[in-house]
Amino acid sequence: MIDRILDAATDDVIDDPVELEIENTIRPKDFANYIGQDRLKMNLQLAIAAAKKRGEPLDHILLYGPPGLGKTTMASVIAHEMGAQIRITSGPAIERAGDLASLLTNLQDGDIIFIDEIHRLQRTVAEVLYSAMEDFKLDIMIGKGPSARSLRLDLPKFTLVGATTRTGALPAPLRDRFGIIHRLEFYTPEQIGQIIHRSADILDVKIHPEAAHELAKRSRLTPRIANRLLKRVRDFADVNGDGIIDAVISKQALILLDIDDLGLDPADRLLLGAIIDSYDGGPVGVETLAALTAEERTTIEDFIEPYLMQIGLLERTPRGRKVTPKAYGHLGKTRLQQATD
Ligand code: ADP
Repeated sequence: MIDRILDAATDDVIDDPVELEIENTIRPKDFANYIGQDRLKMNLQLAIAAAKKRGEPLDHILLYGPPGLGKTTMASVIAHEMGAQIRITSGPAIERAGDLASLLTNLQDGDIIFIDEIHRLQRTVAEVLYSAMEDFKLDIMIGKGPSARSLRLDLPKFTLVGATTRTGALPAPLRDRFGIIHRLEFYTPEQIGQIIHRSADILDVKIHPEAAHELAKRSRLTPRIANRLLKRVRDFADVNGDGIIDAVISKQALILLDIDDLGLDPADRLLLGAIIDSYDGGPVGVETLAALTAEERTTIEDFIEPYLMQIGLLERTPRGRKVTPKAYGHLGKTRLQQATD
């Protein structure tokens, strides 16, 4: 059972027990229910079959990509398929090397340890992880000063599944110790549609195909957003209708949520508008954008930008961020002068 779930936009831990229960019920448990990411699934299925055949633990796995695409879910699917236990934690939660030591020594052979936001591990903690990942040994220092000595402990043969929104932020020695490295891709609107139908079935929500299609279009190609929209639109349908989500109800709810037909929310539009209005479409540096929009730089880089780039509204250039002509069109703005680069 997964006991902590991060909210995509805010990185907040969901601690409402009802929301958590819902999350746990709709989260796919096995490959069959994990929709999309076919290449990743094929590679992992192969690695799992090989590890099982050899009776060995699975290689360490690094999953990267924007939040909400299914990295945590995949870690628990892997554990399920390996018949292993999973322990879930995150980079910022492991404050000292001792915290990591106690986590690792409490594992059993074959267990999976999932570290979300692994790029946020302290350097001293990451260094302890190197020998743990490489040869299942834990080097700990006992004492201080001249009398300090190091002790080598044997660890169970665990598999580390790390998740990050940015592989570039990982120290090279840590990245190199993962045998399997995979990027999670944005989903297609069709796959998001399937996820919405699956979640609606589990939650016993009636949704018309055209309403599911509408939600799918506006879910930033991201399962977590799709599930979140479904829940909010269900609330709207319960209060303003008979609980059934049809095209009219979904449209009204989406207007209330201020999500436009490309799935952009006010924060996305503010960012694009700022580049257009203050910098004539860019290029502009991310720090300036953070100041202009009052968003954290990491929120812009990890959450807002990847989707805007995916749908062709924004470009990253060596000189900064630039909006595309499509962004002008979408926001109904006219270009003042032709961009020079
Ligand atoms: P990440 O760890 O990448 O931020 P999660 O694994 O927490 O994302 O996924 C967010 C939510 O989206 C999960 O609660 C899960 O229900 C849903 N989800 C993710 N991937 C899939 C998928 N491939 N098929 C169906 N639902 C998914």
